[in-house]
Amino acid sequence: MSVAPRSSERPTVADTFGRPLRSLRLSVTDRCNLRCQYCMPEEEYAWLPRETLLTFEEMATLTEFFTELGVDKVRLTGGEPLLRKALPVLIRMLRRNSRIKDLALTTNGVRLAEQAQAFHDAGLHRVTVSLDTLKPERFLALTRRDTFARVLEGIEAVRRVGFTGLKLDTVAIRGYNDDELVDLIEYGKGVEAEVRFIEYMDVGGATDWSMDKVVSRQAILHVVSQRYGRIEPILEDSSAPAQRFVLPDGTTFGIISSTTAPFCSTCDRSRLTADGMWFLCLYATVGVDLRQSLRDGASREDIQALILAGWQARRDRGAEQRKELERHGVRARLVEIERLREDPRLEMHTRGG
Ligand code: SAM
Repeated sequence: MSVAPRSSERPTVADTFGRPLRSLRLSVTDRCNLRCQYCMPEEEYAWLPRETLLTFEEMATLTEFFTELGVDKVRLTGGEPLLRKALPVLIRMLRRNSRIKDLALTTNGVRLAEQAQAFHDAGLHRVTVSLDTLKPERFLALTRRDTFARVLEGIEAVRRVGFTGLKLDTVAIRGYNDDELVDLIEYGKGVEAEVRFIEYMDVGGATDWSMDKVVSRQAILHVVSQRYGRIEPILEDSSAPAQRFVLPDGTTFGIISSTTAPFCSTCDRSRLTADGMWFLCLYATVGVDLRQSLRDGASREDIQALILAGWQARRDRGAEQRKELERHGVRARLVEIERLREDPRLEMHTRGG
């Protein structure tokens, strides 16, 4: 295997555009306890068969293969990751891997209050909670579940048990929550969280998407500056998807402009589904089946050679291509609904948004 060592002794595995293999989103389940209209508009889905789900041991093993090739950021996601039983056990296993410098979790917060302490005790570094509205009736309309109060309790619990660096992710949707952007920043201040606005994306599952529902980075900045005045961008040397800004009072917030200004050129993330399919882009329709290799008894070297070959051949820039379609006035859905129904791995909730 030809991997050039870096000064930090971490190997640099780069794709065809020179993007390093660095960040892994590990989906622990495809199930979710919400039905957000922009992600899971249906009530029922074709779920991954249970016997195909990776065990925690398999997840830790595959993660180790990745970290030996340069990954040092791991984010647990889903579906809703808190639906996976005994998640602290996986967190402890991953914390034994000293190559992981940042171990984070993205959750809808519904079951967070009862689990936050166990996550903290297990050594999880950071938590991100998805929060799209502060209005209970809107939450119910969007998610079709009456669990708004529990999300707020979950957010409070994160702070109480001692986590710092809490982030709140908000998908900004015109006509739904675009009148709450300032309120969300104010709420974030109160709970010591940084709010990150995400542009609504046309991805698998987002079957109601249309460009006129996207609140662009420009529009978000306009609304926020009308309330707070001058907004300064924070200059960071980072591959993080969010561009961060600071308000005159020192409050920071971020914008992930994945639709109008995609970050493909610096994207160092790949995704492992709960059944061990490795996707190199959120928009990719084909993945690499690492579970099969693992269960067939392939060696560490064999699987790492697969990962290496996959990453070195990577040419994906899915969000940019999606944007190009839009520019040419093509409203083609990247994945048709029938195909989504046939292959659950094409859904956003299966590959962990
Ligand atoms: N259940 C967890 C949660 O709610 O955070 C983790 C999985 S969820 C798929 C991850 C993130 O993807 C959430 O912040 C969600 O808002 C975001 N997301 C889902 N569909 C989206 C879309 N069409 N556009 C933008 N973000 C989306």
